[in-house]
Amino acid sequence: MAQGSTALKRLADRFSRMPGIGRKTAQRMAYYIISLPKEESAALAQAILDASEKVRRCSVCCDLTEEEICPICADGRRDHGTICVVEQPQDLLAIERTREFRGVYHVLHGAISPLDGIGPEQITVKELMARIAAGGVKEVIMATDSDTEGETTALYLSRLIKPFAVKVTRLAYGIPVGSDLQYADEVTLSRAMEGRRDM
Ligand SMILES: [Zn+2]
Repeated sequence: MAQGSTALKRLADRFSRMPGIGRKTAQRMAYYIISLPKEESAALAQAILDASEKVRRCSVCCDLTEEEICPICADGRRDHGTICVVEQPQDLLAIERTREFRGVYHVLHGAISPLDGIGPEQITVKELMARIAAGGVKEVIMATDSDTEGETTALYLSRLIKPFAVKVTRLAYGIPVGSDLQYADEVTLSRAMEGRRDM
């Protein structure tokens, strides 16, 4: 990194905090930004501000949206009695791509991971339980990842939900153990959804 250029170093430091970005990539990104015409870098900065100002969590399912209630939760043609629980907004998109699921979702924004200090309070468990307690839910499908954290979370939630006499199912993973749901192809995901089993 250029000596004496604190602005460049600060920019690279910011990038290096992003998921999956190492120090070298962060430096490349910083050099790329300063090579851009002024309008381009201003548009990028504005896009970042817009996204962080406008995007928020749906007050029902916690997916990211620009509305108070996301389009899926607001859709009267969907089955609001079937809730598919996913870890991340990207997982929801992956299931939507199959075009087979007609229920609604709940986005946890993570998974329980005691080693990383992530407990039920750090993800949207409270919000999910409030939806179930409000009634009208027939089935909750656990579509968390098939790694240790995903399994722990599914098991934890199924125990919490049990007293409500709501059917709890788990995706039948043809997906290799330990893999991220969001990277599964559509056929695999459709099968996993169809073959879901009781927990
Ligand atoms: Zn929603």
